[in-house]
Amino acid sequence: MNLLNVKVVTVVLLSALLLGVLYCYISQTHRFVSFQLQDLKADSRSAEVHPDSHEFHLVAPEHVRYKQPSITQGRTDVVSVTPWLAPIVWEGTFNPVLLDSIYKPQNISIAATVFAVGKYIMFLKNFLETAEQHFFVGFKVHIYVFTDRPKEVPQVKMATDRQLTVHSVPSSNRWQEISARRMELIQMLIEETVHSNTDYIFCLDVDSQFHGRWGTESLGGLVAVIHPGYYRDDRSRFPYERRPQSRAYVAPGEGDFYYCGGAFGGLMHEVHLLTKTCRFNFEADAKENIEAAWQEESHLNRYMWLNKPSKVLSPEYLWQDFKSRNPEIHIIRFSGVVKNYAEIRPNA
Ligand code: UDP
Ligand code: MN
Repeated sequence: MNLLNVKVVTVVLLSALLLGVLYCYISQTHRFVSFQLQDLKADSRSAEVHPDSHEFHLVAPEHVRYKQPSITQGRTDVVSVTPWLAPIVWEGTFNPVLLDSIYKPQNISIAATVFAVGKYIMFLKNFLETAEQHFFVGFKVHIYVFTDRPKEVPQVKMATDRQLTVHSVPSSNRWQEISARRMELIQMLIEETVHSNTDYIFCLDVDSQFHGRWGTESLGGLVAVIHPGYYRDDRSRFPYERRPQSRAYVAPGEGDFYYCGGAFGGLMHEVHLLTKTCRFNFEADAKENIEAAWQEESHLNRYMWLNKPSKVLSPEYLWQDFKSRNPEIHIIRFSGVVKNYAEIRPNA
């Protein structure tokens, strides 16, 4: 071999080596990237329970027309954003036509849970009938009724795309237990319906009725409702659990708002985490013979203090029928009916 040939062979061999190294490097990187992606999918709770979340991707259909939003004018009598920049939903802060046109093409489905145990079955008919008129009208809705009296569940005519499922639950002679066990049963329901393609879930008190629209403006990752009884008060007056021994404890000077146990919701996996945590803390407290001041509502308040809701609903979303309407309440959408506690609860 002459010198030229040796040089050519060396160059060829070196190039081949270089290409080989380059190939190994690239395929390695590619494997690494796809491994990471797979890992993410397997790891993320949202992928497991809810494959595609619509919440942060709001596509408006072309040519939808609505009132021009103003940047300088709007509600000034109420606060419509939290210090962590979550919207607080009041009448006049959103455009229902726009919101519905965004969510409609996404074909979302919404579950709602309602418990009617013992004499509370009497509230179910009105709840269901008014839900039919105001709760996510035009969307896919699945209402889950939990009761110990399945035969007494009223027949209410529901629109196409809306359905009702009845789950039997044991009765109890303590209302505190009925109310608190909801967390456990909702947790289990979410686990059972993981593959049902449900996007959002709302958990509502049965002793209540709808009076106005409750729709897509309420959708969010984790959604809490401000309790109508305390929203003008200083936080020192909020009826949080105040004994440090309880896992629902909120210290003086802490807490954002007082949220109600009678309505909360969000994406399925968020509500799953909430109910699982509240149930765990409630049961751990019970083992130490401590029951929080307002049972699951106290645990919910503790949870929402640490895990900030991504959307907060104003007291329009759970008023009380016996309360007169305050001036900032332009519409009552959902409210608790007047009831005689002594007559309907199993224990006073
Ligand atoms: N509940 C029930 N049967 C009972 C007590 C409570 O089904 O005997 C359920 C029902 O869904 C009710 C919720 O638990 O709306 C919360 O209880 P309640 O409405 O009495 O609490 P309040 O709103 O008065 O604080
Ligand atoms: Mn209630």
